[in-house]
Amino acid sequence: MYFVDVILPIPVDNAFTYRISEAEYSFIKPGMRLAVPFGKSKIYTSMALSVHQNEPRIYEAKEIEQILDETPIVHPEQLTFWKWMAEYYMCTLGEVMRAALPGAFLLESETIIKRIVKNSSQPHLDVLDEEAEMILQAFENKPILRVSEVMQLLGKKRVLPSIKTLIDLDLVMLDQEIYESYKPKLISYVRLTPDYEVENMMHQALDELDKAPKQREILLTYFSLQARSKKAIKSKDLQDASSATAAQIKALVSKGIFETYKIQKDRIIYSGNEDSKIKDLNKQQERALKEIKESYSNHEVCLLHGVTASGKTEVYVNLIKSYLDAGKQVLYLLPEIALTTQLVSRLQEYFGNQLSVFHSKYSVHERVEVWNNVLNIESKAQLILGARSALFLPFSNLGLVVVDEEHESSYKQYDPAPRYQARDAGIVLASLQNAKVLLGSATPSLETYYNASSGKYGLVTMRERYGNILMPENSIIDIQDRQRKKRMTGHFSDDLQRAITDALALGEQVILFQNRRGYSPILECNTCGHAPQCPNCDVSLTYHKHKEQLRCHYCGYHIAMLQKCMACGSAELDTKGFGTEQIETELKALYPDYAIGRMDSDTTRGKFGFEKIITAFEQGEIDILVGTQMLTKGLDFRNVTLVGILNADNMLNIPDFRAHERSFQLIQQVSGRAGRTEKRGTVLIQSYNPHHQILQQVSMNDYEAMYHEQLEERHIYKYPPFCRLIKITLKHKDFQKIEEASQWLGQALKNIFRDEILGPEPPPVSRIRNEYHRNILIKIPRKQSLTKTKQAILKVRTSFLSISQFRSVKIVINVDNY
Ligand code: ADP
Ligand code: ZN
Ligand code: ZN
Repeated sequence: MYFVDVILPIPVDNAFTYRISEAEYSFIKPGMRLAVPFGKSKIYTSMALSVHQNEPRIYEAKEIEQILDETPIVHPEQLTFWKWMAEYYMCTLGEVMRAALPGAFLLESETIIKRIVKNSSQPHLDVLDEEAEMILQAFENKPILRVSEVMQLLGKKRVLPSIKTLIDLDLVMLDQEIYESYKPKLISYVRLTPDYEVENMMHQALDELDKAPKQREILLTYFSLQARSKKAIKSKDLQDASSATAAQIKALVSKGIFETYKIQKDRIIYSGNEDSKIKDLNKQQERALKEIKESYSNHEVCLLHGVTASGKTEVYVNLIKSYLDAGKQVLYLLPEIALTTQLVSRLQEYFGNQLSVFHSKYSVHERVEVWNNVLNIESKAQLILGARSALFLPFSNLGLVVVDEEHESSYKQYDPAPRYQARDAGIVLASLQNAKVLLGSATPSLETYYNASSGKYGLVTMRERYGNILMPENSIIDIQDRQRKKRMTGHFSDDLQRAITDALALGEQVILFQNRRGYSPILECNTCGHAPQCPNCDVSLTYHKHKEQLRCHYCGYHIAMLQKCMACGSAELDTKGFGTEQIETELKALYPDYAIGRMDSDTTRGKFGFEKIITAFEQGEIDILVGTQMLTKGLDFRNVTLVGILNADNMLNIPDFRAHERSFQLIQQVSGRAGRTEKRGTVLIQSYNPHHQILQQVSMNDYEAMYHEQLEERHIYKYPPFCRLIKITLKHKDFQKIEEASQWLGQALKNIFRDEILGPEPPPVSRIRNEYHRNILIKIPRKQSLTKTKQAILKVRTSFLSISQFRSVKIVINVDNY
């Protein structure tokens, strides 16, 4: 008898064994997908791990339904990586598999599929087989079907290949699919050709157009738009303003009077020279590149610590090129793709067809295509740019992993499992493939800097900005003092206002940072002190002025703004604290003649929301941009000379052992957006605690001082890098039960680990979506075996789950939870 062990994409601990025929036994390779039955009627897509002849003892093996692949879709290297991840992050292989494979690879009976209706005729229909035709017909009565319903309709279980064909042909899509294919911005702008820019040519042009009154009118409209503002003129705007058609504008282009140009080019070419050859490095960059390469002779990992605008990207680019030239694959990890379109375009200019972008929000096609190109080591996917999920691509010839902005917290996946840290997992992936790793940041995480300065990683430093540009000048403004002296208007000190006025007068742009969105976080009754709470979560509702609503930032619950206090009926309601929306409102009153933009998760929702704001800002359509930490993500704006931080204190006061480190990073990164051209930038930081050591360190640009002081605190209070952390969260709807369960688990763990256990404790927001939360933190000293510790934890969990009244309690284990 022949068997295959498979991974099922569900949270069960072990591999499952199925029966196969002798022919299947010799055909199936690890990494191929098999459709298998599970439970009473479910069909899952599973992945073969190994074939063998050992009959399972405790259950009777079912037969597989069908083999779905002719060749494996992952290499053995990926299976090794998955196993490491499941073990290290204490989750199941199935959970890793679900995170690793694009959704389209995981069709199962519960998958919901939708018909894609297109206006254009469908050329593929004649290639469909009868089954696929039947599936399409089924959609005529129901727009949405479960795969299991398709099985019923066709009276058979073998339907996954037909559905796969339909997906490949773009006739059907998975329900969870969000189509946001990567489209580089290609907004068309129009300007006079250099020939016609000269004054007297203008008259000549008008004369020439004597017989084409409409074109003449367009040209006159162009001049009036130009007179109104110095900003670039969009073709679309000119069209609208002159009620012209695109063809009429085109006619002017063919006459040589106008030319059109696209943003995408303009944003990349700063110096105005048109080639996209890799830039020559300056001395500092040359040295850095050389040192990185040298460090690889005795290190796997190297940290490039370079101040903002030192030109780290160009160093990465040169290093990447040497690996590509050697025929190796390169993975370039970014915290978030959506926030880094500038970088994507820049790299596309350099690497063209060798670069592929991989993003979980892209369409099935794009993802599957990239996947297959990587699998087959195609040259068009030799360099992969992606957020954390790109780690799972089927690399087999990896030479280099670049982790850009390595300190970013979005490298950590919180939910669902696997709760991995992509930077750390990237290092493991690289070591499995004998590849090197380059971590880059202006503000490295403490752990990384510790590893680099203790010699575990190589360390290369760039202290100067590229092109002799000075670091911005930072000053701290004491807002308590300004308040006392009545020199505040709303949330703006007179110093900040003056600086904004000056910058705007010079035609420069301003960025203002406020860590909170919404209008003001809390509404409080002046009479009785009551603050409206979310009924589902243990937090106060946040006031959103634009919609006149009170909203919960945890679950989305919202109600109309109150006119009277819910508790005592008093009409004296007051707002406390403030968010980006309120700053925007104040700015509009202070600077009515300027365009104000806001960038936070409320304004960037929807497709390309973020890009639209960035583009508008780049093109000078926005003078002052207010935003949350989204602003920090490595953006390169040329015309920003002033950065203002409205209140540095709320970041510093977050109850988290990393709060100070993170505040330093955040402020330093936002400041880094100022003065990236010849003119020195200014950063103004408003605070109630102007003497706070972190603010002092930020204002001196003194990373090392911050590092040493924070490291000392971590040492005293026993936090990473001096120990490891595992956080266990329990969740349940019943308050009594969560109390008992967390006490039990806490005690059981204390029996083993003694005072390494903190908690159980309610987190700052102790109820979310009607579930109570309790946290238990395990601090594991460096010298204690991690494997044994994890085994002990799992054993305790097993005993916990065997207690019947606790079975409904959810347990979430988060390794390296910070
Ligand atoms: P960082 O990533 O360190 O913040 P960037 O790589 O964005 O810095 O570089 C800052 C600016 O300097 C960019 O506009 C970039 O185009 C420019 N720059 C960096 N290195 C070079 C170079 N070798 N030649 C020309 N321009 C460069
Ligand atoms: Zn009241
Ligand atoms: Zn809520």
